[in-house]
Amino acid sequence: MKEQVSAIVLAAGQGKRMNSQVQKQFMLLQNKPVLYYSLKCFQECEEIQRIILVTGENEIEYCKKDIVDAYGFDKVTNVVAGGKERYDSVEQGLHCIEDGIVLIHDGARPFVTRDMILRSIEATRESGACTVGMPVKDTIKVVNEEGYGIQTPDRKTLWQIQTPQTFRVPVIKEAYVKMRSAEAVTITDDTMLVEYFSSIRAKVIEGDYCNIKITTPEDMVLAEAFLRQKQG
Ligand code: C5P
Repeated sequence: MKEQVSAIVLAAGQGKRMNSQVQKQFMLLQNKPVLYYSLKCFQECEEIQRIILVTGENEIEYCKKDIVDAYGFDKVTNVVAGGKERYDSVEQGLHCIEDGIVLIHDGARPFVTRDMILRSIEATRESGACTVGMPVKDTIKVVNEEGYGIQTPDRKTLWQIQTPQTFRVPVIKEAYVKMRSAEAVTITDDTMLVEYFSSIRAKVIEGDYCNIKITTPEDMVLAEAFLRQKQG
């Protein structure tokens, strides 16, 4: 039997840095919600068999009716309520999946591509975990609480990490179980969780500098420009 490949698309959370009444994942980019673009990409990718959409309790009906049904995203098998933090939302999505491979993606990243998805699955089949990212362009500094730069890591070793992040399902599920029984850890990323709670190291493959996460208002300006460029 063919190994199941699922996607969890995250669309819960308030996105306070956007300073907007409408959550960033539902803001309109050329008349369609930001979330539409990543769902469309997973829907159209032949390797993806099912999509779990995680959103806020109050947005479940809107997502089902105005996004999933309206655009015919029939690979979406579950629309479930997320949690307070991103990792709480991921965990809710993972409850819907038994086995196989899972790609976890921020619904606020509209420019994921089929090529990224296929390369992520291939790398995960080899190494158990994979993330897309890009080499940083700027120098990165560690800044102390008083606002002084105290360390400058070698730029050649630094990547900015994006999503999708892809895992063999038992690997990520086990990491979540261990996290829940461990002391408090600050988790901003699922590959970080796997690094922390398993011996598996995520393969880092190239994403795209366009694969931005809509976070602050200027990201919408960039996203409009990328979209126009994509459409030629
Ligand atoms: O807030 P942040 O930019 O880290 O959000 C990244 C992604 O995670 C977004 O797509 C957002 O909808 C999702 N998220 C979530 N549940 C939360 C917080 C964020 O699904 N509690």
